[in-house]
Amino acid sequence: MGLKFFNTLSRSLQDFVPLDPAGKKVGLYCCGPTVYDFAHIGNWRTFVFSDLVRRYLEFKGYEVRHVMNVTDVEDKIIQRVRESKTSLREFTGRFETAFFDDLKMLNCRMPDETPRATEHIAEIISLIEKLLAHGIAYQAADGSVYFSIEKYRVGGRTYGQLLKLNFDEMRAGERVKSDEYAKEAIADFALWKARAPEDGEVFWPSPWGAGRPGWHIECSAMSMKILGPSFDLHLGGEDLIFPHHEDEIAQSEGATGQPFVKYWLHGAFLLVEGRKMSKSLGNFFTLRDLLAKGFSGREIRYLLLTAHYRETFNFTLDGLQAAHTALARIDECVGKLREIGAPISESARSDSAAEPKRADSEIGAPADLVARFTDALDHDLNISAAWGEVFEWVRETNRRIAEKSLPARDAATALAAWENVNAVLGIAAAAAAEAPPEIVALLEAREAAREARDFKRADAVRNELKAKGWVIEDTPKGPKLKKV
Ligand SMILES: [Zn+2]
Repeated sequence: MGLKFFNTLSRSLQDFVPLDPAGKKVGLYCCGPTVYDFAHIGNWRTFVFSDLVRRYLEFKGYEVRHVMNVTDVEDKIIQRVRESKTSLREFTGRFETAFFDDLKMLNCRMPDETPRATEHIAEIISLIEKLLAHGIAYQAADGSVYFSIEKYRVGGRTYGQLLKLNFDEMRAGERVKSDEYAKEAIADFALWKARAPEDGEVFWPSPWGAGRPGWHIECSAMSMKILGPSFDLHLGGEDLIFPHHEDEIAQSEGATGQPFVKYWLHGAFLLVEGRKMSKSLGNFFTLRDLLAKGFSGREIRYLLLTAHYRETFNFTLDGLQAAHTALARIDECVGKLREIGAPISESARSDSAAEPKRADSEIGAPADLVARFTDALDHDLNISAAWGEVFEWVRETNRRIAEKSLPARDAATALAAWENVNAVLGIAAAAAAEAPPEIVALLEAREAAREARDFKRADAVRNELKAKGWVIEDTPKGPKLKKV
């Protein structure tokens, strides 16, 4: 079975076939952060989801070009810049840096391109010029330029490809200037907003006078500049379907006359502690809030990756505790495999050559992991089923280790399978690498004390480590640090 995605455009499950005739290259665009504040955990669900899509496509052998824009000019940003009395760049730069730090903390692969809207004003202007030339955009009395839904539809195109819209109530020429509006208020939307006093110093010159771009046109201009007029995948949270993505389609297809995106994938909403996130309910968390509570980026990533992307997910602090336990189970199993199996040395290889060959079925579940995992994810990224396979594999591997029926060669095979699968999950952390430097230094101090036969000092350091939440396990391959 090949890879299938649920395409919002067709509202059905479809085989994934890239536009590239060679079937190799894939263009992927995900709407990035609007840098006016720290991203919250609902935003992070979308970015971790897009990281999963990208990693899985790479795992399947595709060459992915992953683009994620940075929205650094839009209504909310302008308002905050005004309130903070700083410059646009100074204000957005701070949140942009924080965003990429957080992205790394969640072990998301860095997108290949992260274009900023303010650095694509020329592309945005030329796209608006095309729409004006095609007669589907017009300049209003205040100097702003709007997209005409009526003219677009008269030209035989569909506005409302991602969701059904009711045009009965729509009055031709009615306009909406704000970047966000409800689908009940469909009206001509702003492509270029004429400079207003409240914009302060945020404006650029254009053929229509000073002003700034609308939010929707930013994504059309940047995605098509990098990925071309037609590309494979466009991702985002479901809250972006209308108006943002619908407007992106209208602007792009209106300008180029070509289909914009082949597959639209939308991540579902996130609840926190069973309710919609809100600052007044005390369930509004940024990534930093959760790290300050003592959770790790890895635990948060794991929890965000446990539910299928199209299911509403209830994120809870209890869930993060459970994530800690689940990851510890995986770590323990993988740690034991490393002790038994890695690496396959030359002598082990020649030893195993002398062993009688075992049938595949005897090598057993560990080697099947990759195939089962792939079957699960091929089906519209069924991650819950994929985790089911991982934990089944952990159980089976632990059983064989306990029975001492897992020879070094099989352990090495199992470890390789795990590493393959983890290239998609991205949750590995080597036990030693996880310990902060001062903890590693204490371990070294204890080893030095033991070598000097100063056992009193060695015990004291061991206790100090324990007080800091780390224990030393003495293994045949030397001491290992383990978090309590
Ligand atoms: Zn966008």
